[in-house]
This record gives sequence, C-alpha cells and structure tokens, in this order.
Amino acid sequence: MLARVAEESAEAAHLFQVVHRVSAEDRAARSGHAGAVLWLTGLSGSGKSTIALELERRLFADGLQVYLLDGDNVRLGINRDLGFAPKDRAENIRRVGEVAALMADAGLITIAAFISPYQADRELARRAVDRYPGTSFHEVYISASLATCIRRDPKGLYRQAQAGEIRDFTGISAPYEPPEHPDLVVATDQAEVSESVEQVRGYLRRLLALPSGGG
Ligand code: ADP
Repeated sequence: MLARVAEESAEAAHLFQVVHRVSAEDRAARSGHAGAVLWLTGLSGSGKSTIALELERRLFADGLQVYLLDGDNVRLGINRDLGFAPKDRAENIRRVGEVAALMADAGLITIAAFISPYQADRELARRAVDRYPGTSFHEVYISASLATCIRRDPKGLYRQAQAGEIRDFTGISAPYEPPEHPDLVVATDQAEVSESVEQVRGYLRRLLALPSGGG
C-alpha cells in the first residue's frame, strides 16, 4: 500500500510512504514484546553508557530483542561528519532519533544513550518514534550533579574541558537542559550501578507487562 506523504516540501510531494505487510503486532507476537525506545539523557559521566551496557546485557539475558545505540559509536560511524556546535548536536540527535525509531519499528527495545542536552532535540526524537504505531518512547533522565560527574571524569574529558582543550563541552562550556517531564529519573550520585540498572529494567518490564523476571 502506498500513501502520499504530507506535502511539506517540493521533494516530499513526490514521496509515497510504503506500508509494510508485517505489522508491529506481528513482530510483537513473535518476540513477545513491542518495540520501544529508552532514551537515556544526562551529563557526560552521569552513567548513561555504564547503565546502558549492563542493561542491554541484562535484557538480552531476559530473552528480549534489544540493541544499544551509543553516542560515541554513532559519532564514529553514521555521524562522523558532525561536531558539537548546537546545529551539529541537533542533527546528531535528529538522525539518531530516526534510527532509533526505525529500530523500535523493527520490534527492538532500543536503548539510546546520548547526552542530548537540548529539550527540543529530545522532543524531536520522541516525535520521530511516535510516527510508528505500536512503538513507544521513554525519556530516562540519568541524573548526577555536575560535581559528581567532574569527580568521576571517567574519560578525563572534564579535565581537558576545564583546561580549555575541548570546546562546547556540556556542563562546562555548553548548556545541559534537564528533562522537563522525564518518564523516569535515575539518580546515580548515591546509587550502585546494579541498582540503577534494575531501576530501568523494572520500569521497562512493567511497561511491557512482563513478569518481574527475578534477579
Ligand atoms: P556517560 O556515558 O553518561 O558519559 P559513563 O557511563 O561513561 O557516563 O561513566 C559513568 C561513571 O560513573 C562510571 O565510571 C561508573 O562506574 C560511575 N558510576 C557510579 N555510580 C553509578 C551508577 N549508579 N550508575 C552508573 N554509573 C555509575
């Protein structure tokens, strides 16, 4: 089936959206769960990658179809042409939002771990996912104070940013807009990694109406 795409531009006027013959329900019936995007946002060093990597391993062990889209990996590949100025950050998140939306439409639990400092960019990612029926988007705020992140400095980037060696560094020389209405807040300042991972895992399992799944 083909449907003409809304005529937002001259180019779009010539596009026809293809409707798949495998539906979101078909995919969910096979894998046992719907596709979804868990969008992890937070300062550098707040714990996004640490949580995302362990969460992916844990959910995979639970038998879920899951894949992690990580900021640094994406910037080494599809987004290697982008920098860190606001315009490039917006494009980075726009592309990743579209990729995450496709992955959720394919039926995957997609964990997206990106600083994504601007609320407007995260909203665009949500809207990209919302275009695909049967999928859902969840903004997960990985929260840690700037002082904690600077103390952790897992990649030594804060030290470099404070020395002026990195420009446009979130929290130091570029802004971070905390989520206004996050679906979940994971405060990592005082928590063990395993507790934070379980917090997101529990949220997801409730969302997908899956049994708690044991430790
Ligand atoms: P980000 O991906 O947000 O830049 P990282 O995951 O690379 O952050 O680094 C987070 C650091 O904080 C790691 O060294 C991790 O071990 C530590 N940490 C301490 N407590 C937690 C927690 N509860 N959740 C996640 N990371 C934590």
